[in-house]
Amino acid sequence: MTFRTLDDASDLAGKTALVRVDFNVPMEGGKVADDTRLRAALPTIQRLRDAGAKVALLAHFDRPKGKVVPEMSLRPVVQPLADLLGAPVRFADDCVGETARTAVAELDTGGVILLENVRFHGGEEKNDPAFAQQLAEVGDLYVNDAFSAAHRAHASTEGLARLLPAYAGESMRRELEALDAALGNPVKPVIGIVGGAKVSTKLDLLKNLVGRLDRLAIGGGMANTFLFAQGVDVGGSLAERDMADTAREILAEAEAKGCEILLPVDLVVATEVKPGAEVRTVKAGDALSDDDKILDAGPASVARLTAAIDASKTLIWNGPLGVFEVPPFDAATVATAKHVADRATSGALTAVGGGGDTVAALNHAGVADDMTFVSTAGGAFLEWMEGKALPGVEALRA
Ligand code: AMP
Repeated sequence: MTFRTLDDASDLAGKTALVRVDFNVPMEGGKVADDTRLRAALPTIQRLRDAGAKVALLAHFDRPKGKVVPEMSLRPVVQPLADLLGAPVRFADDCVGETARTAVAELDTGGVILLENVRFHGGEEKNDPAFAQQLAEVGDLYVNDAFSAAHRAHASTEGLARLLPAYAGESMRRELEALDAALGNPVKPVIGIVGGAKVSTKLDLLKNLVGRLDRLAIGGGMANTFLFAQGVDVGGSLAERDMADTAREILAEAEAKGCEILLPVDLVVATEVKPGAEVRTVKAGDALSDDDKILDAGPASVARLTAAIDASKTLIWNGPLGVFEVPPFDAATVATAKHVADRATSGALTAVGGGGDTVAALNHAGVADDMTFVSTAGGAFLEWMEGKALPGVEALRA
């Protein structure tokens, strides 16, 4: 995968870089409640400042749907960002027009300004060329550092990249390199773990993965659907019984493409989903009652999975193996995550995870920092796992 990075941008001194960041941060009572996304933008901002550029930050916040909604202003982000950066950050009440252009012109070399919510303009989400042109008039070059917004073809994520010299920022670059190492150009053998609630939400993902991986472990509620499709008794478990044909098709496709599928061989069953519930471990295929719910994979399944991980050089993970929010149904997810983390920290495994609840599950297991890379991108990460082209990334291709 080749894309333009800041290494390709020469002579930044005196130029204004329009930098698309993801500042769609959690807010509580008008204050930033989690500054992870602000921190993620720092390396790019600092690199541009060091090169003598002015930095004008573009971002969306929430869904104002093309109208000015004061509660969705990005202004509360200014001070926390300035504190993290250790330098002043200015603010402009509009991301385009005279307001934005004048504010940017008044910046000193190395100065930083945050421009108001791009989604206050209807042209943003419509990727309106006229709006993209207005944005382009505010700067000299474009840097996209928001992988998490790259699955959207919006003016500030895609249209603008067609109008100005466009580069991937430092966070975007790290993310793209990690994703490439995990699925684009991985060291083989590659194993995937896909868990979570439903097959129906991850059909495209499963279909893409079986064509690319050497092994795929399926866990969580979606494993119940596959087990049901194979005639295994799933009792009163969450399972999409109407998806049995689809599950069998995926299994057939995996076989045709040489992807070994690992389904749970033993199951942790309880009649209630509550902390410390009474559980029993059964073999897949044992008879269950209508009250029984399969809520986690058992130890034999984990042992088989960790052996498969040991036989792999690369791992990509999305979705928990059980109801990890409610102990003891977190056991398979936690044990597997710890094993993955050990392999990754020893250098034996490139391990990348992300999407939806995966970040929470890896944090719950206490291993998020030990993975090679954990993507917090959500939708963009999933679309990338589905093999879809991300418009914001395509626009940065060299
Ligand atoms: P997803 O967002 O599709 O990755 O699904 C994550 C959710 O799947 C989590 O909230 C888990 O509690 C849930 N989940 C995992 N395993 C099971 C299971 N065996 N039965 C019901 N829900 C499950």
